[in-house]
Amino acid sequence: MSTGLFDPDRAGLATLLDGEPRYRLDQVWSGLYEQFAEPADITTLPAPLRDRIAEALPVSLHEERRSVSDGGDTVKFLWRLREGWHPIETVLMYYDDRATVCASTQAGCAMGCGFCATGQAGFTRHLSVGEIVEQVVRAAREARRRNRRIDNVVFMGMGEPLANLEATWGAVERLHGDIGISARHLTISTVGIVPGIRSLAERPLPVNLAVSLHAARNDLRDDLVPINVRYPIEDLLDACGDYLSVKNRRITFEWALIDSVNDTDRDARELADLCVRLRPAAHVNLIPLNPTPGWPTRGSAPGRVAAFRSCLESLGVNATIRRNRGTEIDAACGQLAAGQPVSAPLRRRPDTV
Ligand code: SAH
Ligand code: SF4
Repeated sequence: MSTGLFDPDRAGLATLLDGEPRYRLDQVWSGLYEQFAEPADITTLPAPLRDRIAEALPVSLHEERRSVSDGGDTVKFLWRLREGWHPIETVLMYYDDRATVCASTQAGCAMGCGFCATGQAGFTRHLSVGEIVEQVVRAAREARRRNRRIDNVVFMGMGEPLANLEATWGAVERLHGDIGISARHLTISTVGIVPGIRSLAERPLPVNLAVSLHAARNDLRDDLVPINVRYPIEDLLDACGDYLSVKNRRITFEWALIDSVNDTDRDARELADLCVRLRPAAHVNLIPLNPTPGWPTRGSAPGRVAAFRSCLESLGVNATIRRNRGTEIDAACGQLAAGQPVSAPLRRRPDTV
């Protein structure tokens, strides 16, 4: 994996511009991170310098396909990485009052959650800082054509951000420091890598933490989210509590509602129990499971979703039902697999229920 346009930090770029007048560095940096321009379009620079930059630092992402749904409000980009066929995806979502980018941190994922299309496809490789940042820049370039700017970035695309923590953190710093997205508009979603959460707690920016819980007892979670065997719920909850006390940020638990698997009143009570043990109580994001080719179980019906939420609220836990975006273009949560064949064997519904 060679260095791409958005990989070097300011000091790295300064080295490349050695011998040029000093103000060139500002011109290049603002061209890339404020105007979201390609080097060829940074017209404040002399043409030979534009060529030199483009040659030394090629773009990392080649747009393979763009799919649009929700009346134009959801755009999914399928990118090919520079070397070989490593497809990754990014989703841009426009809302009335904001625009959000859902970025990938790995090509594939090694965590093996059976209900997730990325997990079904397996792991290819980590993404670099530049490959993560470029997804946001390219989406921002597209948003600008609609006179919109990117307000939020969620690391909820392909891959497990805390399994690629250094590159993810490098991207967080760049998005915060150079694109100007505040920490409270940046969200890292994790399957629950405890050492990663602890390491995040030691870093300066108070980004939001979302934890993909999906089950509040270990036997069921072991089955749905295999990494739970290594980092069981008690340890995970401890790490979340510590993050919360250091950062003073609300923690969100993500819960994909799976028909008759984790959507009963018992599940809601167990989840509420965990939520109120965190102070302030964790917020819950409910999302009916989206269909993926390698997992036969369905998402919960709307009535059950509503009942689950009421049960949580009656126990003092706030829950939001997430509106599904982009299901018909496979851009919804857990559906990102970049058109790869699904390699995991078909799984039966866990028999722990
Ligand atoms: N690896 C990270 C971030 C990427 S997954 C994580 O697991 O948190 C983004 C979110 O989509 C997670 O909350 C994940 O649990 C959820 N998800 C995965 N497959 C899904 C599916 N089929 N339906 C709904 N949500 C799903
Ligand atoms: Fe990986 Fe997250 Fe999918 Fe699990 S849900 S396989 S951690 S991307």
